[in-house]
Amino acid sequence: MSTATAPAPASAKPKYTKPKVADQKMFIGGQWVESVSGKTFETLDPTTGEVICRVAEGDCADIDRAVKAARQAFESGPWPKMNASERGLLLHKLADAIEKHKEELAALESLDNGKPITDSLTADLPLTIACYRYYAGWADKNFGQTIPINGPYFCYTRHEPVGVVGQIIPWNFPLLMQAWKWAPALACGNTIVLKPAEQTPLTALRVAQLAQDVGFPDGVINVVPGFGPTAGAALASHRDVDKIAFTGETTTGQIVMTAAAQSNLKRVSLELGGKSPNIVFADADLDAAVEGAYFGLFFNQGQCCVAGSRLFVQESAYDEFVEKIVAKAKSRKVGDPFLPDTEQGPQVSQEQFDRVMSYIEAGQKEGAKLLVGGRRVGDQGYFIQPTVFTDVQDDMKIAQEEIFGPVMSILKFKDPEEVLARGNRTTYGLAAAVWTKDIQKALRLSNGLRAGTVWVNCYDVFDAGAPFGGFKMSGIGRELGQYALQLYTEVKTVIMAM
Ligand code: ADP
Repeated sequence: MSTATAPAPASAKPKYTKPKVADQKMFIGGQWVESVSGKTFETLDPTTGEVICRVAEGDCADIDRAVKAARQAFESGPWPKMNASERGLLLHKLADAIEKHKEELAALESLDNGKPITDSLTADLPLTIACYRYYAGWADKNFGQTIPINGPYFCYTRHEPVGVVGQIIPWNFPLLMQAWKWAPALACGNTIVLKPAEQTPLTALRVAQLAQDVGFPDGVINVVPGFGPTAGAALASHRDVDKIAFTGETTTGQIVMTAAAQSNLKRVSLELGGKSPNIVFADADLDAAVEGAYFGLFFNQGQCCVAGSRLFVQESAYDEFVEKIVAKAKSRKVGDPFLPDTEQGPQVSQEQFDRVMSYIEAGQKEGAKLLVGGRRVGDQGYFIQPTVFTDVQDDMKIAQEEIFGPVMSILKFKDPEEVLARGNRTTYGLAAAVWTKDIQKALRLSNGLRAGTVWVNCYDVFDAGAPFGGFKMSGIGRELGQYALQLYTEVKTVIMAM
């Protein structure tokens, strides 16, 4: 390989190539194994609909093997004896390994999920790495209290790991969701069985290999790819799993919680759907609000649980705002995720494509005004035009249900109290945003909105240190930040007679 080439001209765009991927096994007890049944499933490239490779398909028997491996690692492997600071060091090493392989992982993520590789490189990877590093720091800082109770007693609490943790993640941010689940669970000393989404199993398996390479003991992490109603359900209902952490649709969350309750009352944390109000007042910096609303809806092909999919714009700024956002949506570059200037790739699957298209049809039927988009792009893969509806009314389907696609719904409002009430009129409560230069309005709305995160004059700002989760039917518990430690900790009270 020559190193004597001239430096590339500043205007040269980087070139990314789709990786070739071999068939994949599952990762149990430190071994790469076939499924007990011998079954495999295809993972598809959403850009073309073609098969990337085949993946071992987990079911009850594989989940059971993985739970046994995790239980053994929790009780008798090196993991329970390890110093907390050494667990932290391993998490740092995993972060280093992911950083070292970031181009490879970004390409794998974009191949399996369809997201633009520039997004994988600038958002998914850095956030993933930051999450592992953040919890590496927490590993030896999650400790209890000494409590001055009445009587001749010494009372203290111990923060102990919950045990064997089942984790089920979705396909929209596969690497990042794995990090949100693994990093706090490992920092607290648990062992893990992860079921990645059937649409996007590849990066989870690759990270498992990296974790093994950096020295995580066998059985501490196990990855069983497979489908929701089989492998996912087996994990949620397994009697030897102590906790289940789930991210996905609200209806699936209800199934998972029921299974957890009926099997062994395992601890449950859920991060579910949303229909987030994004509220733009006429006194806002309108250009910034247009940028934020555009990003907050179209980012990741609209496949974000926090998508600002109810965009409320105040009457007096409505026309100007709509004109600006329509121009932006029209110029959005849809295409091959491996081209460096692509802004929007395909939806993840045929199923999601069909679902989004059915919402576009519903919007038109119910009388919303389709200003841009609404159609498929090209004739292969699952591409959809960036779509903007105006004149949307609160009771329309597109204003009530989670679309999970590049479909913006703009609603008009008059005053703060009205928009606060309308913003809260939903069963969800994941996120919300307010755009205004008036501090009183910003405070009134951010206090009044029933959502786990409220962004003021910004959108989609995520940080490993900032807790995230839902009010109402958007979930139970908080991931990220110090709060996530609670999800993976049992508090033990010790009372000793003096
Ligand atoms: P989406 O529509 O985004 O795929 P889901 O809630 O269906 O959302 O999927 C999120 C995750 O939940 C995936 O890993 C999926 O396999 C899993 N899942 C789906 N159904 C079940 C189920 N009945 N029990 C456990 N996990 C499930």
